[in-house]
Amino acid sequence: MEEKKRTITKVEDGEKVTKTAKKVVEVGEDAAAEKKVKKVETLTKAEEKSKATTLRIVSAILWVLAIGFEVLAILFLFKKLYIPWLPQMWGMIICIVLDLACCLVAGFLWKKAAHLDPFKKTNNKVGFFILTQLGVIMAAICFIPLIILVLLSKDKLDKKSKIIVTVVAIVALLIAGLLGADFNPISAEEKAAAEQTLTDDVYWTAFGHKYHLYEDCGSLKNSETLYQGSVTSAIDNGRGEVCFFCANRAEKEGVDMTGINVEEGVASAVAGD
Ligand SMILES: [Zn+2]
Repeated sequence: MEEKKRTITKVEDGEKVTKTAKKVVEVGEDAAAEKKVKKVETLTKAEEKSKATTLRIVSAILWVLAIGFEVLAILFLFKKLYIPWLPQMWGMIICIVLDLACCLVAGFLWKKAAHLDPFKKTNNKVGFFILTQLGVIMAAICFIPLIILVLLSKDKLDKKSKIIVTVVAIVALLIAGLLGADFNPISAEEKAAAEQTLTDDVYWTAFGHKYHLYEDCGSLKNSETLYQGSVTSAIDNGRGEVCFFCANRAEKEGVDMTGINVEEGVASAVAGD
């Protein structure tokens, strides 16, 4: 037992779960001292679906609100909205910030839902792309019309205000677009393949987007806290692809990884997580 001290935390879902997790941690400390376990419980398909539906509804509401703030900013621009104590430029900036806040939360929840209840990819590649990257599309809708109107407007804003508002809106667009993009989307087919093939518990860390099949995977060496659970729970928690090294090792051991989302290349695996 010369291993670096590591915490493996087994967490279950919801409140009940957190208590259990704490208990496990305490037991782990008392008994083994070397390892703590955070076990993540698996949601049923029905639970995943209903949770995803809720998240998607909330996302939709937030995107509508975001567009609402964009409209308010446009009303400020055309002086249809006027608040005596609030300068026009500041009114617009406040609207842009609120627009961004709604966009960011909506995009985050949308991506979370896409792991709980992924979209189908077969025969629907374009639809899959649009649905998984809806965060980027909505970011465009929530900022580009405003940016165009500001740039086209004449004598609505003084020169300095116009530059400031334009820059703020473009920065907001970039942030919302980048954070709204799903760089590691998973399809319903890929999730199903992983669930069918990988029946043992998998491991993941607090950060990153991949899960590991082996607790002793080299790229987990420096991770003090590990989460352990079914592949379903790993994917539900945003870990959509298998670690490159673990996938190779599993294949050598005769596991058929066909259809499973595997991390590409070695570069990111070396960075570790
Ligand atoms: Zn690994």
